[in-house]
Amino acid sequence: MALIVHKYGGTSMGTTERIRNVAKRVAKWVRAGHQVVVVPSAMSGETNRLLALAAELEPAERSTATRRELDALAATGEQASSALLAIALQAEGQPAISFTGWQVPVRTDSSYMKARIESIDGQRIHQELAAGRVVIVTGFQGIDEQGHITTLGRGGSDTSAVAIAAAIQADECLIYTDVDGVYTTDPRVVPNAQRLKTISFEEMLELASLGSKVLQIRSVEFAGKYRVPLRVLSSFTPWDIDLAEEARSGTLITFEEDEKMEKAVVSGIAFTRDEAKISVLGVPDTPGIAYTILGPVADANIDVDVIIQNLSKEGKTDFSFTVSRADYDRVVKVINETVLPKLGEGASLSSNTQISKVSIVGIGMKSHAGVASTMFHTLSKEGINIQMISTSEIKTSVVIDEKYVELAVRSLHTAFGLDGQSHIEVPKRNDEK
Ligand code: ADP
Ligand code: ASP
Ligand code: MG
Repeated sequence: MALIVHKYGGTSMGTTERIRNVAKRVAKWVRAGHQVVVVPSAMSGETNRLLALAAELEPAERSTATRRELDALAATGEQASSALLAIALQAEGQPAISFTGWQVPVRTDSSYMKARIESIDGQRIHQELAAGRVVIVTGFQGIDEQGHITTLGRGGSDTSAVAIAAAIQADECLIYTDVDGVYTTDPRVVPNAQRLKTISFEEMLELASLGSKVLQIRSVEFAGKYRVPLRVLSSFTPWDIDLAEEARSGTLITFEEDEKMEKAVVSGIAFTRDEAKISVLGVPDTPGIAYTILGPVADANIDVDVIIQNLSKEGKTDFSFTVSRADYDRVVKVINETVLPKLGEGASLSSNTQISKVSIVGIGMKSHAGVASTMFHTLSKEGINIQMISTSEIKTSVVIDEKYVELAVRSLHTAFGLDGQSHIEVPKRNDEK
């Protein structure tokens, strides 16, 4: 008997028919002798629907008080899907009980809309499992010290699942989604992307942080910190496929490098479409300038991604950085109101909201020279201008015009030998997260 956490994403929970299928699959695992905790997402489109309703009513400036209510609202999506799944399991003759984040409780800090899990009490979960029930715990949500409902950021149910698996010392955490594993890139953009049987934790962490939303980055961080065995697999296989076959399917995140395996230099390509570039032009090139510009941005709790400072000319330079497009209005306000007045005459702001970041990731890059130059050459052959570059040991990222993102991903996928033979079909979805 093993203790297993299953997580089902929004598309997998998208209709009552699919919820019934999830229930049948979970019941199959229980019949095979396992204890199962299930972490469902809201039904697909539901979180977007709720937040769009709020957007119609929201004040122009989002206050902490409003963010609190947005979390109280968004958390209802998971509450509904969890209760529906419990009902579907009961209809299968399988005893089940659903808990919200605050009933467990899943304790978080107080940063609404991107709260961090601080601790999870596994006692109630263990008690219910021991009584023979499937325990369903809402994804995406928790409760802070003052009793306010919080949510973990978009895609946060992955993190709930892995954190719960760590807290209850589960044998494995299975992330069921609408594709059958982690691919060399998003199979919705490159239909002949290839599924990876395994991917190293380090590479998965990079891919997730660079935009491959198949796993939320914090879920990968939790898996690394607590060594949770983690697998990504499909919820769209027939529910009654052989359990042993299902348990081996998909992509396993591995923590040890398999020496024998011939590693591809580049394992995967990630991209984000929702970035914005801010350039502060005509800045005096003096010590402390980066702090003068980025200090107030950090104080406003805005994350900065790629940064570049140009060569100085006659004591002046240009300083550019990227932020998430969702933070664009706020960052422009900070620069206009707080930064430009400190920089004196001649400094000005220029911005571009139509940019994307494309990144190649691979452990093999550590020991292979010339990988970045192959990337630059490939993009130049396609006539794609690189606006910014950022590198680390196992990744190279470029910032480019948004309209070239798919062309860039496809041509890099081919250039690094990642194209497979077959084209995969991915289920349609009614949300765009
Ligand atoms: P869920 O609702 O199950 O959490 P998500 O939409 O969050 O699902 O994540 C699954 C989606 O991630 C896939 O449908 C796919 O389009 C996208 N994706 C992006 N990069 C990759 C990748 N490298 N491998 C697999 N899927 C990816
Ligand atoms: N329902 C949340 C979202 O749409 C969390 C999740 O699906 O993981 O972002
Ligand atoms: Mg997700």
